Amino acid sequence: MEVDLVIRNGLVIDGSGAPAVRGDVGVVEDRIVAVGQVDDVGREEIDADGLVVAPGFVDGHTHMDAQVFWDGLGASSCWQGVTTVVMGNCGYTLAPVSPQDRQLLSRNIERAEDIPGEAIAAALPWTWTTFAEYLDVLDSLPKGVNYAQSIGHSALRIWAMGERAYDGPATADDLLLMEQELRAALGAGAVGLTTSTSRTHFTADDRPVASRLARWDEVVSLVSLMGRESTGVFQIGGTDEGIDGRLQELTLASGVPILFPVGSFARLLRIVEEAVARGGSMWGLTHCRPPISTLQSFHTHLSFDFLGAGEWRQLRSRPLEEQGRLLRDPEVRARLVREAQEGEYKPISQGDPFKPDYDQIWIMYSQYLPNPTVADEARRRGVDPVEVMIDVALEQDFDIFFLQGFNSPPSEEEILQVLRSPNTAMTFSDSGAHLSQVADASIQTHLLAYWVRERQAFTLEQAIRMITHQPAKAWRLHDRGMLGPGYAADITIFDPDTVAPLMPRVVHDLPAGGSRLDQRAQGYKATVVNGQVFTRDGDATEIRPGRLLRRNQIPVPAGTGGSSEPSHL
Ligand SMILES: [Zn+2]
Repeated sequence: MEVDLVIRNGLVIDGSGAPAVRGDVGVVEDRIVAVGQVDDVGREEIDADGLVVAPGFVDGHTHMDAQVFWDGLGASSCWQGVTTVVMGNCGYTLAPVSPQDRQLLSRNIERAEDIPGEAIAAALPWTWTTFAEYLDVLDSLPKGVNYAQSIGHSALRIWAMGERAYDGPATADDLLLMEQELRAALGAGAVGLTTSTSRTHFTADDRPVASRLARWDEVVSLVSLMGRESTGVFQIGGTDEGIDGRLQELTLASGVPILFPVGSFARLLRIVEEAVARGGSMWGLTHCRPPISTLQSFHTHLSFDFLGAGEWRQLRSRPLEEQGRLLRDPEVRARLVREAQEGEYKPISQGDPFKPDYDQIWIMYSQYLPNPTVADEARRRGVDPVEVMIDVALEQDFDIFFLQGFNSPPSEEEILQVLRSPNTAMTFSDSGAHLSQVADASIQTHLLAYWVRERQAFTLEQAIRMITHQPAKAWRLHDRGMLGPGYAADITIFDPDTVAPLMPRVVHDLPAGGSRLDQRAQGYKATVVNGQVFTRDGDATEIRPGRLLRRNQIPVPAGTGGSSEPSHL
């Protein structure tokens, strides 16, 4: 047999949770043809001695929608063993859109997902109106990893209602337009429908995002359409009152799988488990750190930037070098500390004022090992917490992040409980969103470095299942997330002894000059996407083998009985 690629003599972990076996993986074109022993010599061979060979990781909850237009690689997910991402979550997509509504549409994504409007304006060609046309444009872009795309409810509302999408419920005619476009989008390959009812989701001009104005029966109508067409999954963000009952009814009545971000919260996991116990199809999307923790730094944002006009405002308007000089001036420093203690903080959006709680801000000396809080360090040094932030920043030449946690963070026990549930997939990175503040594209690597290696809370087999087979199954990407004959040749090869996220860096490469956090990892030997080597030793090759995965073109590998359960090796 002519074999294009052989990954030789690795510790093969197939994604199903089955025990690792030492062996080879053979690839012909874009498919895996053999797992076990491959006698033929491949046209290309990768020596995986001492390394784990796993399915490429599947990141189901991303917001790469805008980024894919300016980043052919898929950073930072592509540096973390990820070979497939799903975008269009939480109701936000860049299609469908009428020419006059492009501004209205971007407003959803700018604020709620913190993707700069200037970058969107500079990079997007807006050559589409319908979702099907948009998918064709996506198809034509160079891509390192695979992308699957859901259609967003907020976009559908604006498509049908224009400005009224931000005002209130849809009329019967509006709903008809939404249903027509949803049907067409599913026919063109959308993998699902998404929405948000989240109270924290606002537009750039301080209004609730369009999906939040919908009545629940509008959501039910759209999801029921997917049920009738027997296609698509439904993703919803939001934890408003009564959501548990509504979601359970919805999956039971429609048969449509519901994907629900539970982060690391056991009370949200309960909603999923109850629905499954009643016979519904529901998946919790989980995190392996306290989710969406934001990173502060002098290079990007600080809590003190939320103080009104005053000492901090003046300081922060200067170049960093000058800030350094001023921070060393005892008088300036005393004024800064006083203002930080006594000044009035503005709210981020329509929430509480953003006053720092130093017991919930960690100094990020390590990217994945436990770190001290600012309050801990203040007690240790015997100084005020504000001084700690200043001193640590100066000691590290400003190359330090402070991780802003939650008011009531999940306990470690709770994080583990949620991860252990068979009804969850560890895939809540939000990659592509919150570009300058959140570095959660590395959650898969964190799982392997911290929870598997350092804490031994999971075996490699268990952890890999959470980030391959489980998300592929949740999104019904039947031929991904497993190593077995007939599956797509998306493969990640890593060293289990060294794999770890590296510290994020602030880079200034967004279109129109914005900055973002870039995060690399160590320990990844290679990723293979559709049979071609896309990254090697932590860098991208010249090849961009990623594809748009259209729902209607996803094959079911032979021997899997129509589901994505493992075929045995
Ligand atoms: Zn989201």
